[in-house]
Order: sequence, then C-alpha cells, then structure tokens
Amino acid sequence: MDVDLDELIARVRTHRGGAVDESIPALASADPDLLGVTLVGVDGVASSGGDADVLFSVQSAVKPFLFALALADTDGDALDRVGIEPTGEAFDAVKLESGTGRPPNPMVNAGAILTAALVHGGSADERSERILRGLSAFAGRPLSVDEEVAEDEHLLGDRNHALAHLMRSEGTLAISADDAVAAYARACAVLVDAEALAVMGATLAAGGRNPVTGDLVVSPAVARDVVSVMATCGVYDGSGRWMRSVGVPAKSSVSGAVVLAAPGVLGAAVISPPLDERGTSVRGHMAADLLSAELGLHSFGA
Ligand code: GLU
Repeated sequence: MDVDLDELIARVRTHRGGAVDESIPALASADPDLLGVTLVGVDGVASSGGDADVLFSVQSAVKPFLFALALADTDGDALDRVGIEPTGEAFDAVKLESGTGRPPNPMVNAGAILTAALVHGGSADERSERILRGLSAFAGRPLSVDEEVAEDEHLLGDRNHALAHLMRSEGTLAISADDAVAAYARACAVLVDAEALAVMGATLAAGGRNPVTGDLVVSPAVARDVVSVMATCGVYDGSGRWMRSVGVPAKSSVSGAVVLAAPGVLGAAVISPPLDERGTSVRGHMAADLLSAELGLHSFGA
C-alpha cells in the first residue's frame, strides 16, 4: 500500500474543528489530539501511523460487526427483522419503520440494539460473551470490555431504553428491553485500537475471512450484506456525503473512530475524537478522503 502514513497524519493534524462527544465521562475526557491510522490489506499486510495502538471504546463502529454476528446466528433471518434503508436522521432517532415496526437499519441505535439481541445466548451474560468472542475473532486477538463505559452507557442511554421499549411494544424485540440495551451497551464499550479495528474492517473486506489469522469469521454472503449496508447507512445522516467524497463503505462512531472496508482491497481505521455535527470524526473524514484519493479506493471511479 503505497501511502506515507506519517505524512498523511501530519497533513490531517493541521485540520482543526469538531468537538468530542460528551454523552459519558470517558468520551468527554478523550484526548482531542489523539490521531491514529491503520491500514490492513486483504493479504494481511498492515501499516500504521500515529497513535494506532491507543485503546478507546469502539462505540458505534461495532454496529457492522453486531449485524454480521446476528446474520450468522440467525442464518440470515436478521434481514427480516431489521430494515436496510438509510434514514437521513440522527443515530439515536426514536423512530421505527412505518408499517413493520422494525428498526430502519442496523447502523442506527435501534437496529444495533436489535442485532445485539439477535446474537444467540441463553442469558444476557452468555449473549455478551458470545458477542465479545465474535468481535475478537474479527479483530484476530482477544478484546475486553471497559466496564465503566458499559455501565455508563447502560445507565445514561435513556434514548436507547426508549428505543428498546418501543421495539418491544411493536413486537420486534423478543428479549427484555433492559437485556437488549445491556448487550448493546457492553458491545459499544469493547476496547479496540486502530490496529484491531482495521483488522476487523479488513475481515469484512476479505469476504469474512480474517486476513491475519486466516479464520473464516462469517460467510462471504454475510460480509457482502454488511458492507452493502455500511455503504448506504454507515455514516448516519452523513452517508451520502461520505460516499460521494470517500467512496468507501464505512462506519463512524462517537468515540471518533471510523472503520472502512474496501472489498477485495483493504480494511482501515482512523481514530480522532473531535466530531462534526453528524457524529463523524472530522479528521477521520479528512484522513479517509486522502487515503481514498491516494490509493484510488473510491468505488465509483477516480
Ligand atoms: N454508544 C453510543 C450510543 O448509543 C453510540 C453512538 C455512536 O457511536 O454513534 O449513544
């Protein structure tokens, strides 16, 4: 991969703007100058620059992987339970698909609360364990949960509780609202660094096979479904702008991480906490623009 990441980081670093998320203490105290980038080719070759080994909670960058695990565990039935249309609305909009009562897509909070609940597990603990094992398989190394973040997400996520109750009332969420929010909150609190997140993206880009460990984590059909929905819904109400400028399926998150999956080419992750008004890392977007241009990654031409 012919790109000088140190030079790219130096360029991106000059770009100011955005503000760190303040929804929970751990995010509010994030270092706004943290900046790391990792690329992982589908051949497993990786390159990193900046703070690529600093841990942060994955937050919504976990959503594609929850969707993948739900698809795998339900043999694709998850596709009947969650929509796949972009909303043009904020990540936590309290709104379900009209007519069906399903969450609009798995990349917004309602959808991710549902996909977390669809992952198999006889109890809340078992489900969370299974999610953690699945995410670790995507990352190619054992991941852990930041317990304080998980607890704060669970306690302070009033809109997430509202969404879970709404889905219960529509009959689309089968487990208890509290268990569903807890599973989602723990998934958001999983600690990754840019290196781990890039391997996770590369696993999707490589059709579900982790290019570092060689393990088949999900089927090629699941990986394709997930990347397709990342392309249309991954950056919330900024998905159209993202696709036009970067042209690579991606998922943003309030921790300031962005995970990218360019099918057949590479996975990438950028971490930089200050966010724009749509919850996308400002420098993450800029870094992705530069990477896309330098490596010719845009899906629809140079
Ligand atoms: N844990 C966050 C929430 O549910 C995730 C949102 C995001 O990363 O966009 O509010």
